[in-house]
Amino acid sequence: MGQGLSCREPHDNSFFSAVQNGELETVETIVDDEPSVLERTTARGKLSALHVAAANGQIQVLSMLLDLSDRPDVLNRHKQTPLMLAAMNGKISCVERLIQAGANILMFDSLHGRTCLHYAAFYGHLDCLQAILSGALSTPVAHSWGFARFVNIRDKNGATPLHLAARQGWPECVHMLLDSGALVCASTGGYGYPGITPLHFAARGGSLDCVRELLAWGADRLHRDSSGRIPYMVALRHKHAACAALLNPSAPEPLIWPSPLKFITELNPEAKALLERALMETNKEREKTILKATVYSLPSPLHSEAEAGDNMSQASDVDLCCICFDQVCTIEVQTCGHQMCANCTLALCCHNKPNPTTSAPKAPVCPFCRSNITQLVVAKIKTENDKEFEFSPSKPRISRKSFNTSEESSSFKGLSAMSSFGKLGGRSSGKVAAECDDELDKL
Ligand SMILES: [Zn+2]
Ligand SMILES: [Zn+2]
Repeated sequence: MGQGLSCREPHDNSFFSAVQNGELETVETIVDDEPSVLERTTARGKLSALHVAAANGQIQVLSMLLDLSDRPDVLNRHKQTPLMLAAMNGKISCVERLIQAGANILMFDSLHGRTCLHYAAFYGHLDCLQAILSGALSTPVAHSWGFARFVNIRDKNGATPLHLAARQGWPECVHMLLDSGALVCASTGGYGYPGITPLHFAARGGSLDCVRELLAWGADRLHRDSSGRIPYMVALRHKHAACAALLNPSAPEPLIWPSPLKFITELNPEAKALLERALMETNKEREKTILKATVYSLPSPLHSEAEAGDNMSQASDVDLCCICFDQVCTIEVQTCGHQMCANCTLALCCHNKPNPTTSAPKAPVCPFCRSNITQLVVAKIKTENDKEFEFSPSKPRISRKSFNTSEESSSFKGLSAMSSFGKLGGRSSGKVAAECDDELDKL
């Protein structure tokens, strides 16, 4: 076996091209004939057969090669692993197979010192990003490094995966990373040093969705890079007018996802989706006002208006939120069982901007009974009048139409309405209303 190869190069070429094209039988034949072919690499990039299969998404060939090899982390010229190439090219099945075969997710290439997570984020492959993050939870990395540290891993220039996703304009990857614990204010200069934040990168790239995501997670519009520039100046310089409008420090702040609250991190997926949507809707309403003042105009109508129409038809025979009389009750507070809409729930939770220097933010209380909120769940839609609310014995069945609402800051409006109940709004919720009114004045 393996003898009689007078010319190695043509054999190599046919081997690598068979791997690249996923010709399983040909690859098997060549390997049977000469097992040492597995050790060969391509002339230019020093790519192994594993690299070529992974980069091209040839899952069958990759599986076969992995079965024959105990080294899933073979390196190419730039110290890139097959896993990095699969993540770079969005080959999800290969990413999963490599992780399953024990590929190390914590390898750094020699180009920019990047990991496979950086590559998935940079190229915007959401499924690969997710697979690697799940892998980080189940592989030894979680024990040796810690998951949070892995999510915030830096490349040679100090960029985290979140920086790269923001720079390249991948809002879904930005969202997933933030949701997994990526630090929204990570600076390329390191903690406490001037450097570039993901918001600077998003401003530079001009992705409005990325800017919106980052702001909704509490990104700091006033953070200065080492040249003293805030993200607003970066957006202006690159002529991204809409991004600049949102990044302008004098524009009203968006609602911020209350991630430091314990019951928010423990939300079940359904309740989370409801609240996230409410957050985005509220912020988009706010953006409309801000963007109206710029040369940029949003494509209209917004999708949320179509969705609001659906809610409206339901609202006639189900319980309306007792705070805003505007939306359907979708969230239930545990353990008291009081219900309100997602927008009011958010407005209640978001009134304190998360402050990184205070570890434990004050948890909000139920506006109806003042008990501490320990959990939020999706409310079961009731069709009968709910007699539970002690503060509103004759709960008005107001048709939504009578408000003729344009959804404009419905949560703010709702909370102002709540404070007018006096006995309904406790100290904290009254404060919310006051703060929110201030915000409205600034518009
Ligand atoms: Zn409400
Ligand atoms: Zn309650």
